[in-house]
Order: sequence, then structure tokens, then C-alpha cells
Amino acid sequence: CKLREEVDDCECKIESIDKLNNYQVHPRINTIVQKDYFRFIKLNLNKICQFWTDDARCSLKDCHVKSCNQDDLPASFRNIINQQDENDKKDNNKNKKVVQAQAENCEQSNPLGHINSSLSDESIKAFEDMKKYDDAQDNFCEPDDETHAQAEYLDLVLNPERFTGYKAPHAHKIWNSIYRENCFENTDRIAYGPEKNTCLEKRFFYRLVSGLHTSINVHLSARFLHKGLLDQADVWGPNPEEFKKRFDPETTNGLGPQWLKNLYFIYLVELRALAKVAPYLEKETFYAGRSQVEDEEAKFAVLDLLKTIKNFQYHFNETRLFRGNPIEAKTLKEEFQTKFRNITRIMDCVGCDKCRLWGKVQTLALGTSLKILFSGKISSDNANSKNSFQLTRTEIVALFNGFARLSNSIAEIENFRELLSRSTTET
Ligand code: FAD
Repeated sequence: CKLREEVDDCECKIESIDKLNNYQVHPRINTIVQKDYFRFIKLNLNKICQFWTDDARCSLKDCHVKSCNQDDLPASFRNIINQQDENDKKDNNKNKKVVQAQAENCEQSNPLGHINSSLSDESIKAFEDMKKYDDAQDNFCEPDDETHAQAEYLDLVLNPERFTGYKAPHAHKIWNSIYRENCFENTDRIAYGPEKNTCLEKRFFYRLVSGLHTSINVHLSARFLHKGLLDQADVWGPNPEEFKKRFDPETTNGLGPQWLKNLYFIYLVELRALAKVAPYLEKETFYAGRSQVEDEEAKFAVLDLLKTIKNFQYHFNETRLFRGNPIEAKTLKEEFQTKFRNITRIMDCVGCDKCRLWGKVQTLALGTSLKILFSGKISSDNANSKNSFQLTRTEIVALFNGFARLSNSIAEIENFRELLSRSTTET
């Protein structure tokens, strides 16, 4: 794990990121994701896989996702649920009334009134559709429909990302389709590093996906299941051998260190996105409604983190991407967006629910970062965001949790370095 060089395509040394992250960012982001506003996320884990039909869901015990007891949810989310139920009821009643009124209108041969009202409904709908279309242009993800009956609030603290036992062939099928079908590289080898002469955007894409893959595999090595012997209980903790096997140059054809560097790369990208969207986030309230103190602490913790990262945001410069010939740049960006959206859809094919949950959160975090960096709606000097720029609560929660995962992975790597050097000294 001799990572002492610069992160490719960034102007930053690994050592300085370690220092910044482990002493300043990690404790702060960890506090944030424990807060009510950030620990609950509404997702649909039951969406149908759009890519293949043998969508096997594994029955591994550690893949299970614990549902939230509705009474344990903070007030604001319970209100939303109740409000939604109410709205559904109202909508149903409204629909019934509309149908009834239409029938009556027909009977009374009064089509004009009917046409007038449906015209105004239509124009409202057209306006809403236009807005949705406009927002969707900025999106790098296909968001879950939060009003879907199967979407539910999940507690991320109650369901930590850790070793689940999800493995080949199913897990490989997912990673394969992410790399092979969605990356720009024309290759049938999964462990492929992008060629030196590929364009910056393509290297960027590969590095993000690989960095995410690294983060997931660091976590499963750091929260590994050590089976208790005889009547001893199972214990969750770091497994240095597992980490070594996954990242050592000898066991990875020399690629492991590059994969680790890709984690640092994606970290700098998301850090830059958070700093860029800071003026927007500074105006947000992080209201969950369990207690006023909790909500104020959440706001304070966010402001504190944003202040901390402000000075470190220029190690990644997004304005270097999608430049040059405007038509080519636009086409490349659209291709990039389509491919990334596909990755978010592939998450619905992950066979282990726990991995699917964290896969969705982390791809949504990355997609949200890309939206912040490339929508063109926030000026590059962060001065102000145009009014039209918007993030949903789910995007904000995913953004912070995804960044927290990357930050945690970097801290875990430091821990593995120590554990492995200690075991070498002992032998
Ligand atoms: P894999 O990690 O499956 O990798 C396959 C091949 O890809 C490797 O042989 C290597 O050649 C190449 N490769 C590996 N790492 C990289 C990299 N960083 N960059 C580029 N190429 C690489 N398991 C859990 O225990 N807990 C989880 O929470 C979890 N979440 C997951 C979420 C998703 C979305 C997916 C797809 C899988 C998840 N898994 C999780 C499974 C885990 O990532 C591995 O797939 C599994 O442990 C099998 O590992 P493996 O050694 O066969 O190699």
C-alpha cells in the first residue's frame, strides 16, 4: 500500500489527502450522517431489473435490510407519509369527482365547460412536465419515484455497509456490466485500466467507477465477519488479509495501487462538488423534527464541514472536461450522462438487498456530484447558483452519505497500513 504519489488527473498528493481527510473531514462528516435528517433515505429497493430477467435475489442473512418502524421515524418524515396518504386519498376523491363531473357534463350536453377545465389542467400538466424535463436534463441518475407504494424510508445507521458474502458469479455480472457495457473502453477484460491516450473524459469516467468499486471493497474488508468459534459470538472487524488480497500488486497484476488511487480521485471529485454547492447548502435547513436541538446541530455540522473543505476544493478542476469543439463536447457529455444513468439503473439488478441499498446511495451521490459540477447552473467560482438549480432531499442525503463512505474508506486504508506493517514487524 505504498501510495505516495500524486492522484492522476488531480493536483494533489495522497499524503496530503490522508491528512486532510483523517484529521479534519472524517470526524465531521461522520457526525453529520448520524443526524436524523441524513440517516433516513426514501428509496425503492424493489424496482424490477431492466437488463436481464434472471434477477436472482440472494437469501444471504447479511444481505437483509432492516425496515424502519414508522413510529421511530422523526416527525417530519412521518408527516410526509401521512400527508402522502392524505394526498393519495384526496387525489382518488378528486379523480372520482372529475369522472363524475365529466359524466354529468356529457349528460347535460355542456362540453364547453368540460373542455375549458381540462384545458387548464392540461396546461398545468404541460408546465409541470416541461419543468420535469428541464430538471431531468441536468440529472445523471434515474431517481426512484418517491411516491411509489414500494418506496420506503430506510435507516442507513441501522443498516451499515459491511461484508455480506455477495460474490461471483452474480456480483461479477454486475461489475462486468458496469465496466464493459457502460464504460467507453472497448474491452472484454473487467480489470482493465484505461489506455494512456484515451481522452480525459473517458479516463475520468473509468476512474470514478473504479474508485467506487474500491470503496465498496475496502468497506467489506474493514467490516468483515469473523465467525465466532463454538459458543463465541460473531465479531465484525477489519480483515487485513482480505484487504491485501484485493489490493496487493502481487495478487492484482500490479493494478491494486491504481485502484486505491482511484478512490482518492473520486473523493476529490465529490469534495469539489460539495464545496461548489456550498452556497446553496448554506441556505438549506436540515429539518427532521425530532428535536430543535438536533436540527440546529445538523445545520451547524454541515456549515462546519463546508468551511473545512473550502480551502481544499481546487485539487480537481471540472472546467477541464467537456471542452473544445462545442458540438463534440455536447455529444460527449450526453453520452457520458446516458452511460451514468445506466449505471444507476443497473443498481436495481444487484441481488443482495444491503449491497443494492448502498449501491443506490453511492451512485446517487456520484450522480448528484456530476449534476453539481456539469449542469452549468452553478458558476465555477461558487459565487452564486442560479435560482433554477435544485437538489431534492434524497439527493442531498445521498450526497453526504456517499461522501462519508469515501471518507471512511480513506481512513480505513490508513488503519490497514498500520495493521499490515505491525504484522510484518511481528513476523
Ligand atoms: P470483485 O470486487 O467482484 O471484482 C471483480 C474483478 O474486478 C476483480 O477480479 C478485478 O479484476 C476487478 N477489480 C476489482 N476491484 C477493482 C477496482 N477498484 N477497479 C477496477 N477493477 C477492479 N459485498 C459485500 O460484502 N458488501 C457490500 O456492501 C457489497 N456491495 C456491493 C455493491 C455492488 C453495487 C456490487 C456490484 C457488489 C457489492 N459487493 C458487496 C460485492 C463485492 O464488491 C465483490 O464483488 C465480491 O466481494 C467479490 O469480490 P471479488 O474478489 O470476486 O472481486
